[in-house]
Amino acid sequence: MPEQHGSDPERQDPPAPTEAETEPESEAERGVTFAGLELRPELVAALSHLGYEEPTPIQREAIPVLLAGRDVLGQAATGTGKTAAFALPILERLAPGKRDRDPVALILVPTRELAMQVSEALHRYGRDLGVRVLPIYGGQPIGRQLQSLDRGVDVVVATPGRAIDHLNRRTLRLGALQVMVLDEADEMLDMGFAEDLEAIFAATPESRQTVLFSATLPSRIDAIARTHLHDPVRIRIAESSTAEGEAPRVRHSAYVVQRPYKAAALGRILDVEAPTAALVFCRTRDQVDHLTETLNGRGYRAEALHGGMSQEQRDRVMQRLRNGTADLLIATDVAARGLDIDLLSHVVNYDVPASVESYVHRMGRVGRAGREGVAITLAEPREHRMLKTIERATKRRIEIEKVPTVADLQARRLELTRAALQESILGEDLDHFRVVVESLASEFDVMEIALAAVKLAHEASGAPADEQDIPDVTPFNKPDRGARFERDERPERAGQGGSGGRGANRREPASGMTRLFVGIGRDAGMRPQDLVGAITGETQLQGKQIGAIDIAPRFSLVEVPDAVADDVINALRDSKIRGKKATVRRERF
Ligand code: AMP
Repeated sequence: MPEQHGSDPERQDPPAPTEAETEPESEAERGVTFAGLELRPELVAALSHLGYEEPTPIQREAIPVLLAGRDVLGQAATGTGKTAAFALPILERLAPGKRDRDPVALILVPTRELAMQVSEALHRYGRDLGVRVLPIYGGQPIGRQLQSLDRGVDVVVATPGRAIDHLNRRTLRLGALQVMVLDEADEMLDMGFAEDLEAIFAATPESRQTVLFSATLPSRIDAIARTHLHDPVRIRIAESSTAEGEAPRVRHSAYVVQRPYKAAALGRILDVEAPTAALVFCRTRDQVDHLTETLNGRGYRAEALHGGMSQEQRDRVMQRLRNGTADLLIATDVAARGLDIDLLSHVVNYDVPASVESYVHRMGRVGRAGREGVAITLAEPREHRMLKTIERATKRRIEIEKVPTVADLQARRLELTRAALQESILGEDLDHFRVVVESLASEFDVMEIALAAVKLAHEASGAPADEQDIPDVTPFNKPDRGARFERDERPERAGQGGSGGRGANRREPASGMTRLFVGIGRDAGMRPQDLVGAITGETQLQGKQIGAIDIAPRFSLVEVPDAVADDVINALRDSKIRGKKATVRRERF
């Protein structure tokens, strides 16, 4: 693993680190650029315009092989950058100037959405080449497709069923085809397209180059590869890595969010997580700029970090983070390389990283020197599979969380107002205001006066106007059966007041009880009596009302009566347990 510094408490931030010294990377990772892959200048320009700073691992491996004309059998899920991996070599084939009517490339995809996405990607990458791309899928009027096919297209992106329709009508002619791509081949088979695929293969020239991408490689995919691919180069985006080098106290969580809601979701997550300092990774420079702007607009103090910035500019940004003028750093991988920020409490993947390596590398930024850290990933519903891949490869459970709801946020903000009022009551001389209360008290009930004052204080605290609902698309959060977790991740029963004899961990809480997650565990010296002490000290609960307590190495679980669960959460969030502020929330399954 590239990150090897995690456990050295003496490690200092060198004044002007060179990249190689601070973040050692594999040979393959260093210095490969799109230009270095020998793509046409028009393509390199388009990628730079899109803010892609460097190829992803699948692109680094697949593009040279495809440019050399070899067939490829690639195992890669959505989110790895696989579309550009096959699209760029196709575009490289397009000679500028007048081109034939019939397509040189056919890309088969399982769904209409993917057909549109892949077509858009081809348009974006091939904008300076004047590429003619036609998506064809069922449900769209066939007439328009016929006209376009007749006028001439370079690349057809099709679902198998609709491709067969056009082949039968002889409106899709594949005689001049140079490249055929099967994207998400396993999904196409699952959807029953096996026969269609065979028929389409039969209509293409033997001389074609064939590319097959699939998230999984079951034997049926192998069979297709054996029949239709010629001596393919197999590319698999490393699943072998483990998180051995990772510092132990990192909590990994993910939120599944639809793209339009990502910025809002991130804002809410940050509100609840309250990081000391967070590094947020984006894929492209454009995303970095957008997100920085959006977050600043929402009242966060975010700074963008770009690959193209001078060392001086970078130093200035880092200084702002160190002295607390900024608490969020938004960066691409390239820009973040060489940064060593020891005060980071959170690392956020604004998108699922393109490879397991990248995930592990990014996450190595938190939890250094034995500190606690949180690794958060925002995944779009389609990228769910990549999360599983990362989970399996790193052998770390990635807990899928629900994005805080408007109600959660309101509760949190009210809690902050309550805490501010409490502080004011305890710490300030309020006599000055007595005359106001007294004069109102002749007319109104004191409770009413208090309520109005709280309302004004609450409003004045400037709660952001982010009240849109974010649709919940969280998949059922069941541990992946293929994943092997660290043995010591499992909590150990401490038997405080619990009704013994229930199953091992992950059993249902006792009836009428809610189980809470507290982000401090045995490694930090947590004992059952510390939890009991914290709860009874901060709330009205008595020790005997507290249910079962489980203390795991990195977290603890405690059951409390349903009716007071929120009070306990709020009280514990505001206090310290064993000298630490802890994450406290309802346990999620
Ligand atoms: P894919 O796995 O092909 O669906 O790609 C996932 C996302 O990554 C898409 O939004 C692409 O625009 C983006 N992407 C692909 N390659 C790169 C790259 N080299 N740098 C940054 N973003 C990329």
